[in-house]
Amino acid sequence: MTVVRTVLGDIDAAEMGITYSHEHLIIDGGRPVELFPDFLLNDVDAAVEELASVTALGLRTVVDAMPCDAGRNVLKLAEISRRAGVHIIAPTGLHHERYYDSLHWSRVASADEIADLLSADIDQGIDERDYGGPLVRRTPHRAGVIKVAGSLNRLSGLEEKVFEAAASAHNRTGCPILTHCEEGTAGTIQTDLLVSHGVDAGSVALSHVDKVVDRGYHRELFDRGVFVEYDQAFRWPKENHTLKLLEWAAEDGHLNQVVLGLDAARRGYWRVHGGSPGMTYLLDHFIGAMTERGLDTEVQRRLFVTNPALMYSFSQS
Ligand SMILES: [Zn+2]
Repeated sequence: MTVVRTVLGDIDAAEMGITYSHEHLIIDGGRPVELFPDFLLNDVDAAVEELASVTALGLRTVVDAMPCDAGRNVLKLAEISRRAGVHIIAPTGLHHERYYDSLHWSRVASADEIADLLSADIDQGIDERDYGGPLVRRTPHRAGVIKVAGSLNRLSGLEEKVFEAAASAHNRTGCPILTHCEEGTAGTIQTDLLVSHGVDAGSVALSHVDKVVDRGYHRELFDRGVFVEYDQAFRWPKENHTLKLLEWAAEDGHLNQVVLGLDAARRGYWRVHGGSPGMTYLLDHFIGAMTERGLDTEVQRRLFVTNPALMYSFSQS
């Protein structure tokens, strides 16, 4: 079987079903919330309730994208998975450096030392204390994706080290890699660095790249063999450029390299907190808009089911 590692254990990729490829079910405080109070998503009951309306529409798997020491809480993710009846892929990795203070361990650790920590989250179990350090208490819940982040149009020196560590952890464990592209940029630079360190581009997904509405940029990404993760669908004020990019990908024959998510990392996006559009958006709005543009049920199945199963499978060594 092709293995996908969820917070409650390994499953066959064929069991994933409809998948949201970049979400935030828990952001349990930390620097992201200090900077942006609306990021606070620490309530298991609220997540379970928000998810109930989406599982009613067929959602089966959610990829959580909050990595080490930035509000991750693996025990809460495991509880949500059990109570909501959805598979959750929990992350290891490091977020953008703005989410860590100036003395954070990630700034002084070597790439090898960081790779050791990420690999242990994947092989042994995520630290209950979220690598807030120095004490580590491993849970039975293992990480199934490595999340790392780059800067606008570039990778900083620190980010290059972190990407190198992610590549090393991927090479040791087979765990897939999900990246944050600042304003959608630098996807080519990120991919080239990972591939130069031995990562198969087919195990990499680049988040938020639909912020860059440039057909040539997306062709460059597709040519490298990576997945793109489009998650801006509900944010466009007028014309939906995410749909436009999907049409271009269809014309160019690259729909087998696209996965979809919401990245709804704010209380203001959750219906249970009085916000909108709610986590149902992709399945109760966007799918209809796709159908109207000729992106039919076969395409939808590819983006929500087939592609995530390929992307989030562990590579066999
Ligand atoms: Zn995110």
